[in-house]
Amino acid sequence: MDEEQNVIAEVSHELRLPLANIKLLVDTLLDGAMDDAEAANKMLLRAQKEIGRLEDLVNNLLSVTPGRQFEAIEKQSVRLADACDYAIVSTRELAKQKKITVTTNIKEGFSIQANPDQLNQVILNLVENAIKYTNDGGFVKIASGIADGSFWVEDTGIGIAQSEIPKIFKRFYRVNRNKAKGSTGLGLSIVKHILDLHQAKITVKSTVQEGSTFTVEFPS
Ligand code: ADP
Repeated sequence: MDEEQNVIAEVSHELRLPLANIKLLVDTLLDGAMDDAEAANKMLLRAQKEIGRLEDLVNNLLSVTPGRQFEAIEKQSVRLADACDYAIVSTRELAKQKKITVTTNIKEGFSIQANPDQLNQVILNLVENAIKYTNDGGFVKIASGIADGSFWVEDTGIGIAQSEIPKIFKRFYRVNRNKAKGSTGLGLSIVKHILDLHQAKITVKSTVQEGSTFTVEFPS
C-alpha cells in the first residue's frame, strides 16, 4: 500500500468509530428511548461528545492531507519569539481555564530557518499538548537552546512512559487511547512530518508524573 492509501485507510478507520457510535445512539433514540427523558438526555450528551471528536479529527486532518504534506517548503529566517507569541495567543484560553502559566526564555534575536506557518504549527502543537497534558496550576516553558536552531518546550505534566515515547509520533496514536478533549493522536505526527521536511530533529525526555521536555533541533 502506498503512503496515500495508507493515510486514507487509517483515516477511514478513525472516523468510523465515532460515526458508528452516533448512529447507534440516534437509532436507539428513534426506537423509543426518547420516551425516557433522562436516558435520552444522556444519549444526546454522548452523541455530542462523539460529534466533538469527529470535529477535532476533521480539523486536524486538514493539515495532514497528502497533497498538502508534500508541497515544497519555502524557508526564511523566522524569529522564535514571534512563533511563540502565536502559540501563546492561540492557547491563552485553554491555559487560563487550567490556570497554567506559560513562559518563554528566548535569546534576543534568536531565529530559525524555516517555513513560518509550519514553524508556528510545530510550536503550537507542542505548547497545546504541554497544556493539555499538565494538571491544573502547572507550568509550561518555551526556551531557545544553546545551539543555533534549537529550542525546547517543557511542562510539569503527567509525563510519558519510556516505552510510549517512540509511538507518540505515529498517526492517531494516543497513550492509553486517552480521552482528553481535542485529542486525536494527530498533533505530533504533524510536528514530525514538518520537521522531516526541514531535516530537523525532535527528542523527548519525560518522567511520569513529573513532566516532559520536547527538544527540537533545526539544521543551522
Ligand atoms: P493528541 O494530543 O491529539 O492525542 P498527539 O499526536 O499530539 O495527539 O500526541 C499523541 C499522544 O502523546 C497524546 O494522546 C498523549 O497521550 C501523548 N502526549 C503528547 N504530548 C504530551 C505531553 N506534553 N505530556 C504527556 N503526554 C503527551
